[in-house]
Amino acid sequence: MPDTPPPSAETPVAQALARIRARIAAACARAGRDPASVTLVAVSKTHPAERVAEAIAAGQMVFGENRVQEAKAKFPALRAAHPGLTLHLIGPLQTNKAGDAVALCDAIETLDRPRLAEVLAKEMAKQGRRPDVFLQVNVGDEPQKAGVAKGEAASLLRLAREEFGLPVVGAMCIPPVDQDPAPHFAWLAAFARDQGLACLSMGMSGDFEVAIAHGATHVRVGTAIFGARG
Ligand SMILES: *Cc1c(COP(=O)(O)O)cnc(C)c1O
Repeated sequence: MPDTPPPSAETPVAQALARIRARIAAACARAGRDPASVTLVAVSKTHPAERVAEAIAAGQMVFGENRVQEAKAKFPALRAAHPGLTLHLIGPLQTNKAGDAVALCDAIETLDRPRLAEVLAKEMAKQGRRPDVFLQVNVGDEPQKAGVAKGEAASLLRLAREEFGLPVVGAMCIPPVDQDPAPHFAWLAAFARDQGLACLSMGMSGDFEVAIAHGATHVRVGTAIFGARG
């Protein structure tokens, strides 16, 4: 009978994670940055909990999901088994899901409008939980895309901080798919610097090295770890 393979080390997910970590380290070396200054957010949306468990077995503890419903179905059990897990919400958030998002997530990366700031503040007060908040900026000013317009980003940030007392730690963006992401990353980095935001969530499977060159502290990588989404 053939031996069963070792439990975790050689799964495709573990191999992909090792490759991505090496590329992050190389991008940091080129940029003269400490690799510890970049957090890999493994985007597990659409992939089953078994794949997430493989990533955990390979030492990955930070995950991103784009839908509250899916996060709610997958993560409570994983979290019970692995108390150190960190979950980032990276998809658009409806106000009626804000309570679940505050209860489930450690970071909410998609604050993009005043009404959501208000509801998040209420939920945080009610639940006594304060997940980190990132301001999502629509850096390409694309009409169909989530995120606050660049011209309104500073005023929304001021409102979120001063009026609602939200723990805003960073800025997040998804550049237009058909454009060079570099100028968009540069814009967000300058915005974060000007506004005193320490965290920069930018870069996905196709462009995380460029994002690291521009100062990303969080890269959100899905396909390059878990494979294509069905
Ligand atoms: C799906 C998603 C990602 C991951 O994209 P990949 O190209 O699969 O790495 C990153 N950020 C957000 C906001 C996403 O929705």
